[in-house]
Amino acid sequence: MSPVDLARYVRDIADFPKPGIVFKDITPVMAAPEALEAAVDGLARYARPLGVDLVIAAEARGFLLGAALARELGAGFILARKPGKLPHETVRAEYKLEYGSDALELHTDAIDQGSRVLVHDDLLATGGTAEALCSLAEQLGGEVAGCAFLIELSFLGGRGRLGRHDVHALLRYD
Ligand code: IMP
Repeated sequence: MSPVDLARYVRDIADFPKPGIVFKDITPVMAAPEALEAAVDGLARYARPLGVDLVIAAEARGFLLGAALARELGAGFILARKPGKLPHETVRAEYKLEYGSDALELHTDAIDQGSRVLVHDDLLATGGTAEALCSLAEQLGGEVAGCAFLIELSFLGGRGRLGRHDVHALLRYD
């Protein structure tokens, strides 16, 4: 077990990005070598037994640990980006926000049929982003092997939205 207490590296920022929201700032996790290592190791410990071929993560904070995690697992890393950002042909998944909707896109050739895909993001809140990642993986014939997050805000119910998928978070805030 890692002796690093990751929670000590997550900083609460009050009223960001708008009044009433307490934002979990993970930049101190990224900046401290021991915390970065513990985060990647912790996520890999969950994901290794799943036999993952690919890690999919969402722009932008999902990229931070996602590529390092893929490297640790000996898996590939595929990028889900906001509409219009990817240069090749794409598939799209839309998801609801508090007000309105947003979308993520993935290259159509990003996943081979039957590949085992790990969904990753820095933080699970309402689950819309992760649900869109699952949808993108499945649209291209991938199999979602599990969903791995650094942080889960469990009071927002994202886990319920991911339904039948296995969900794991290194830090949970109730
Ligand atoms: P969801 O789609 O509601 O689950 O929101 C998760 C997405 O919003 C993730 O991609 C996060 O990067 C981002 N997010 C939401 N709240 C926070 C926060 O407090 N800190 C960091 N990222 C957040």
